[in-house]
Amino acid sequence: MKIHWQGDRLVVAEGDITRFEGDAIVNAANKSLQGGGGVDGAIHRAAGPELLEACRELRRTTLPDGLPAGEVVLTPGFRLPASHVIHTVGPVFATSEDRSSQLADCYRKALQLAGQHRFTRLAFPAISTGIYGYPADAAAKIVATVMRETLPEFPELTVTLMFFSKADADGFLKNASLPV
Ligand code: ADP
Repeated sequence: MKIHWQGDRLVVAEGDITRFEGDAIVNAANKSLQGGGGVDGAIHRAAGPELLEACRELRRTTLPDGLPAGEVVLTPGFRLPASHVIHTVGPVFATSEDRSSQLADCYRKALQLAGQHRFTRLAFPAISTGIYGYPADAAAKIVATVMRETLPEFPELTVTLMFFSKADADGFLKNASLPV
């Protein structure tokens, strides 16, 4: 399934993000940048051990305390078909605190980093909606808002929102309520 949306600038797709061919894929990493489960583990497996080594180098140099939620950092893609990985850390969902701005920052800052590097093809997974427990409907609304606000700043960029299942992609489209 592939739904082109807002012209061809925003694509909602179902698939494995590790197979995405483009300038960069976004990794829903954790603060330690040492790999993990879910999409993070899949990206590290597909990229090969060089990716973990690059992340360890970041920890030794610019990010000794790890990557805070809502921040982004770039590495090469190594054995991935995508040239680069933009690592970001989504918020862990909590009912006691509104963490929507951190989730919005993940998307916004990844778009800005891609724009700075003049990337033209970028793919996101559904950050925080797996192990980190963010409700997919709430996340969809946040993602749609960021895309509506930020994508016009980067006219050369095409963004794919890559969902692991058709149900996830359909759920996104239902909740995002972006103008087609
Ligand atoms: P988080 O810890 O940020 O919640 P997860 O990796 O647990 O991240 O899940 C984020 C989303 O990524 C989930 O919707 C999950 O189904 C999806 N996902 C897992 N593996 C892949 C993959 N290979 N490609 C695309 N999406 C994936």
